[in-house]
Amino acid sequence: LLGPDGAVAQTIFAEMTALAARTGAINLGQGFPDVDGPEFIRTAAKDAIDAGRNQYPPGDGVPELRRAIADHQLRHYGLDVDPDTEVLVTTGATEALAASILALAGPGDEVVTLEPFYDSHAAGIALAGATHVPVPLTAEGFRLDAAALRAAVTPRTRLIVLNTPHNPTGTVLTRAELEQVAAIARESDAVVLTDEVYEHLTFGDAVHVPIATLPGMAERTLTVSSSGKTFSLTGWKVGWVHGPAELVTAVRTVKQFLTYTSGAPFQPAIARALGDDETPRALATSLAARRDLLCEGLTAAGFDVVVPQGTYFVVADGAHLLGRLGVADGHDLCRRLPELAGVVGVPVSAFCRPGSPTSAALASRVRFTFVKREDVLRDAVGRLHRLAS
Ligand code: PMP
Ligand code: GLN
Repeated sequence: LLGPDGAVAQTIFAEMTALAARTGAINLGQGFPDVDGPEFIRTAAKDAIDAGRNQYPPGDGVPELRRAIADHQLRHYGLDVDPDTEVLVTTGATEALAASILALAGPGDEVVTLEPFYDSHAAGIALAGATHVPVPLTAEGFRLDAAALRAAVTPRTRLIVLNTPHNPTGTVLTRAELEQVAAIARESDAVVLTDEVYEHLTFGDAVHVPIATLPGMAERTLTVSSSGKTFSLTGWKVGWVHGPAELVTAVRTVKQFLTYTSGAPFQPAIARALGDDETPRALATSLAARRDLLCEGLTAAGFDVVVPQGTYFVVADGAHLLGRLGVADGHDLCRRLPELAGVVGVPVSAFCRPGSPTSAALASRVRFTFVKREDVLRDAVGRLHRLAS
C-alpha cells in the first residue's frame, strides 16, 4: 500500500480525477454518474434527517433496510436470506469487501482473485496480510480461464474473490462459467466472496447470475453489493453483504471496529429505493446506448475495444496509437491524454499486480467510463478523434 518512497500511495482514481480537475479535461476515469439518482430517494433521506434519524443506527443496519435487501434478493434471484442474521449493512461495498477479507483471511492464507481486479480487492488482501493469487482472464474477450483457476487453488486457499459484472472489463460471467468456479470452490472448501455492485447494469442478452444461487453455494458465499451504482448515488456509500449467519457474524465483528455503524438517514432512503426496479432498468437501457456511443468513438479514434456486457466501463487498447503519439504505454497515455485529447482515462495496469504477466499483456489498455450524459460523451468522442489523424 506504500509507494516506492514509503509515502501512502494514492489510488489511481484519485490521481486521474485530480488530473482532470487540474487540466479541465473530461473525466472518463473515475466511474461516477453526472446525473444524481431519483428525487424520491433523495427526498426520503432529507425526510429521515428531519424525522430525527441522526444518531448511531444499529450496527447491523436499520431493520427496514435489512428487510429490503432480503426482499430484493428473493424477488430478483430467489435467494432466501434472513434479514436478522444473514445481512449486514456497510459503508459501501468497499467496507463489505475489506471487512469480509479481514474476517476470513490472514497471514499464511491465500486469496484468489481474477486479474485484472478492482483495486480495493487487492488492498483488502494486503491489509489482511494474506497472499494474493491473481488468475488472469483470457486474453481473448476477458473470459474465465477455469483451468488457470483450478491450478491457482491450493489447500491454503481461503477465499475466491469474484466480481461480476466485472470492473474494469465489463465481462458478465455466464452461468456455465460460474458453475466451474462453484465446482472448484466446493472441491477446495473455499469461501466465495462475490462483488456484484453492477448487478443491475447489464446490456443486451447478458444476464447477471449470483453465484450464491448455484447448488451448494449459498452456504459458502458472501455476496456484496451496493446502492451506489444501482441508484446513481455513489457518494452515499450504502452497501451490504449477505451470506450464512456464521460468516456474516465474522464480518460484523470486523465492521464494528472499522466504522461501528453506517450513515443513519441514508439507510431508510435506500430501503425505499430497493423497492423500485424501474430506475435501474431504465439506467441499464440508457447506459447500453451510451456504451455504444463511446465504443464507436474510441474505435474511430484508433482504439480496439472489447465491447462490455455490463458495468460503467469499456477497456480500449491503444496499442496502435502509442508509437505515433510517442507514449510508452497505457499509463503514459493516460498522463498525456488531457493534453492530447482533453480526456482522462485510467490505465488497466492499475487493476493488475505490478509487474505481473497480465499487467504486461494489458499495458496498452485504458479503461474509460460511459456513465456520463450523452452530450458529455459526444464532446469526449469529438475530442478523442484528434488522436486519429
Ligand atoms: N466494487 C467494484 C467492482 C466497484 O467498481 C466499486 C466502485 N464503485 C466498488 C466495489 C465500491 O463500491 P462502493 O462505492 O459501494 O464502496
Ligand atoms: N468504482 C469506481 C471506479 O472504478 C470508483 C472507484 C473509486 O473512486 N475508488 O471508477
